Amino acid sequence: MTAQTADNPLLAAWDAPFGAPPLDRIRPEHFAPAFETALGAHRAEIDAIAASPSEPGFESTVAALERSGRLLARVSNVFYVLAGAHTNEAIQAIERDMAPKLARHWNEIHLNEKLFVRLDALQGKAAGLGLTSEQARVLERYHALFRRAGAGLDAAAKQRLKEIGDRLATLGTGFSQNVLADEQSYTMALEGEADLAGLPDFVRAAARGAAEERGRKGHVVTLSRSSVEPFLQFSARRDLREKVFAAWIARGEKGKTDNKPIIAEMTALRDERAHLLGYPSFAHYKLDDTMAKKPEAVTGLLDAVWAPARRRVIEERDALQGLAAAEGGNFRLAPCDWRYYAEKLRKARFDLDESEIKPYLPLDRVIEAAFYTANRLFGLTFTAQHDVPVYHPDVRVWEVSGPGGRDVGVFFGDYFARPSKRSGAWMTSLRDQEKLDGEVRPLVLNVMNFNKGAPGEPTLLSFDDARTLFHEFGHGLHGLMSDVTYRMISGTGVLHDFVELPSQLYEHWLDRPEILTRFARHYKTGAPMPQALMDRLIASRTFNQGFSTTEYLGSTYADLDFHLGGAKEAAEVEEATRARMQMPDEVVMRHRPPHFGHIFADDGYAAGYYSYLWSEVLDADAFNAFVEAGDVFDPAVAQRLRDHVYAAGGARDPAEAYTAFRGRMPTVDALLKRRGLVGTGPS
Ligand SMILES: [Zn+2]
Repeated sequence: MTAQTADNPLLAAWDAPFGAPPLDRIRPEHFAPAFETALGAHRAEIDAIAASPSEPGFESTVAALERSGRLLARVSNVFYVLAGAHTNEAIQAIERDMAPKLARHWNEIHLNEKLFVRLDALQGKAAGLGLTSEQARVLERYHALFRRAGAGLDAAAKQRLKEIGDRLATLGTGFSQNVLADEQSYTMALEGEADLAGLPDFVRAAARGAAEERGRKGHVVTLSRSSVEPFLQFSARRDLREKVFAAWIARGEKGKTDNKPIIAEMTALRDERAHLLGYPSFAHYKLDDTMAKKPEAVTGLLDAVWAPARRRVIEERDALQGLAAAEGGNFRLAPCDWRYYAEKLRKARFDLDESEIKPYLPLDRVIEAAFYTANRLFGLTFTAQHDVPVYHPDVRVWEVSGPGGRDVGVFFGDYFARPSKRSGAWMTSLRDQEKLDGEVRPLVLNVMNFNKGAPGEPTLLSFDDARTLFHEFGHGLHGLMSDVTYRMISGTGVLHDFVELPSQLYEHWLDRPEILTRFARHYKTGAPMPQALMDRLIASRTFNQGFSTTEYLGSTYADLDFHLGGAKEAAEVEEATRARMQMPDEVVMRHRPPHFGHIFADDGYAAGYYSYLWSEVLDADAFNAFVEAGDVFDPAVAQRLRDHVYAAGGARDPAEAYTAFRGRMPTVDALLKRRGLVGTGPS
């Protein structure tokens, strides 16, 4: 070990408790040399595997790949934890510098011809290799990873793939910038009290803030969703709602920022890429690597939800039209009216006030509730630790043990907003579970952005905050409970449309009286949340779900249509989708194609927007297994859930894993019930 590596805590041995990284001693200047060393080491490991003169075997190829890049994983994990949760200018500069270097590094590996020849030979004779089922799966995943990147194609095809990739990246950036330009160039000024009619204080304050940000006085509404949606919900000025709504849904559609030509070119290029890789369409390419597997499976799901959603949205529309008429409105309900009248109806039916709920949800009680649920289901216990290094004093640490005191891992909770943290909530890890060369225990983090209570006061959560905590804790358990041999399929290393199951499923326990009556207690008096409040809270969940489901389905059907072959025109796809769905005129797609960034800003959710609904089908159906057993902590169901979902990582095909847990594939029934799309009338 050179002097430099000995001085660099990222490269030295980690001797903190649980082998945790010395987060208190790592400085930004340690990263550049650590990345350089780690990338060099990884390259040498890869070259040695690729150049091996021996006949390709599982050990010399797949296990060797698993053993490679461990230093890089260690450095990257620490770096990206800090880049998200506790960054500064130095870290941001390293991030900009490293992003293209890391992308190139991985791209070179995934297009390494010699490596692919070995993997391909192994995959071809996999059945005769005497592999365990987990080994067979890991081999299959590596093979798919390389094949889908284009390894194995001839030089001309590889070159064309690269050109397509570069062009798509440019087009995606242009798409986002057009939408952003339209959002930034537009404001609607609210002049005087008359223009503010109906707006509650928090909407006025946000409108004042938006004006200030632009160096202006007074109030403005902008085209960002967080500005325009509350305005549409509360503004009593129909003319202003109409004006801002028209601008909002026209983002990316006209003039210099017209995204329609970009969409046509992108759909053509994605189609070409899919053909080069041997798939009939981009949707087939994309879905081949998911639980759904085929476009027909997705369409089947959407159709099953569409019919009841359409019935419900018509009922909702009629109720809103009735409310408008009762107020003396002599007009036909328009899309810009929906949120306004829905808010009125919601208030009349449920009258939920955030400030009524928060005193019953102090942060520490909600954390306790999440731990208690994990204890009842999986026998886990959480013990606070104070000698594990952290990167900020607000970060809390627990040792996690299983039944009989078995070691499981370490859980870090970083709950409060601060300027050094990016917004949102997420789960991540400093180290993933594996046991290829001895048991490696996972170090898992949950990062949130709750507003810290005043000094001496507890932090109080909204119900949405509490749900976020349960959601991320579900991802956390997926990482912590992982019990597999290979890192590639550890924990959350599962297919795209399966990864939200453990997190969304966990949210269900928060809604249950078994948890709420025990943990939702007033922070001053200790009194339980009043039953009537709890009932209203639960009942309000199904409100306006016909609308939410319909606007979402519109975008989802369009996403599939765009990617089922050939260049596609935005306007034609939108029109054809609406017509086929018999979409009511009062509902606009949640994202109209010219600003549908999920599918056109990059490839992330292209032909994948369905996965939100897919995951919800899974979690509703999975939770129903407990409901059917008559106990939300039923030990036998919990054991199957542990074995086939939380502990199983990506060791099996997700459809097989789910079937092993549930005894069958999921059905949409539980989802329809949870969204209130079946049964009597809108509630
Ligand atoms: Zn999630």
